[in-house]
Amino acid sequence: MGLASVFSQWGFPMAKRDFYEVLGVSKGASAEEIKKAYRGKAKELHPDRNQDNPQAEAQFKEVNEAYDVLKDGDKKAAYDRYGHAAFEGGMGGGGPRGPYGQGADFSSAFSDVFEDLFGDFMGGRGGPGGGGRSRATRGSDLRYNMRVTLEEAFKGAQKTITVPGSAACGSCNGTGAEGGAEPQTCPTCSGLGKVRAQNGFFTVERTCPTCGGQGQVVKNPCRACHGSGRIEKERTLSVNIPAGVETGTRIRLAGEGEAGMRGGPSGDLYIFIEVRDHAIFQRDGVNLFCRVPVSMVSAALGGEVEVPTIDGGRSKVKVPVGSQSGRQMRLRGKGMPALRGGGIGDMVIELAVETPVNLTTRQKELLDEFQRIQAENNPEGASFFQKVKSFWDGMKG
Ligand SMILES: [Zn+2]
Ligand SMILES: [Zn+2]
Repeated sequence: MGLASVFSQWGFPMAKRDFYEVLGVSKGASAEEIKKAYRGKAKELHPDRNQDNPQAEAQFKEVNEAYDVLKDGDKKAAYDRYGHAAFEGGMGGGGPRGPYGQGADFSSAFSDVFEDLFGDFMGGRGGPGGGGRSRATRGSDLRYNMRVTLEEAFKGAQKTITVPGSAACGSCNGTGAEGGAEPQTCPTCSGLGKVRAQNGFFTVERTCPTCGGQGQVVKNPCRACHGSGRIEKERTLSVNIPAGVETGTRIRLAGEGEAGMRGGPSGDLYIFIEVRDHAIFQRDGVNLFCRVPVSMVSAALGGEVEVPTIDGGRSKVKVPVGSQSGRQMRLRGKGMPALRGGGIGDMVIELAVETPVNLTTRQKELLDEFQRIQAENNPEGASFFQKVKSFWDGMKG
């Protein structure tokens, strides 16, 4: 079997040139070198400079196709490994199939490259009149900041939100033409969105005045949207906030972003969650933390405190005899749920022993008496003062 038949079995013409060769760079060329080489070739071969030159046109396409692969890290890696087969499997049946073997769409890649190039030449793109060529455009993604309470983060919640923005016009199905008729290619610029004018030695390009750069005109503009294909519209959405969300959690609502232009798909809506601080509980991942005050007497004699739990209930916690401030106890399973399953955290109780204030005369008398007995039996801070004494003694010596 000759080389040619092997290639034809793989389903691509043998004549297809190596992409690196097409751009005139070496295999080890950097992204910057590839881009530079592409710009040079594309400028040289651009259809505007080579009218009625089918050879230049073919080369221009070839250069764009090569650049489309080599500028993309994944595609480039696939090409380096499988060559052209990476993008053309599936025809002969027996050949290797690269990751882009089926469904690779160079017609859309071409228009991307075209815009890329045009944008660079014309100084920016995007916005009305900036894109040069008109086609269906995906709507923008939207971000919506939502604050929820810790209780909502615990239980999950159903929230209704109002999203400002525009939607595809219902009267014209987003086409901008009355009755949903297809827009026509602009007769002034033949769909390019730009017109050229001779100005002395220079050819000046500017946005087409007829279509405003859209490349398409609408014969009978839709009355509802005045031909834009979009209408201002607030939307009300019901959003399911799952239990366990944290500050920074993103919820994606596919297709709920801004409406696409001229029949393009809508963008996505991302809800960014912020969980408000809570008056009682602090959160650390799935665990909750709660400082609970206990009286000096309870801490000394032992007792019981009632603590609130995030589910709205209460738990009794035993305070051991002689508890110091800062002592921690753990209530298993009284924390927050993990966002994607995986159990429930704990609640950590920290005791804060309170010094009594605003004492009555009687209370003062009792504490004075307490102090006297304490000094006789068990001087306060005995071990500390022992350390201080040896410190001072050491300094003398
Ligand atoms: Zn036009
Ligand atoms: Zn309309």
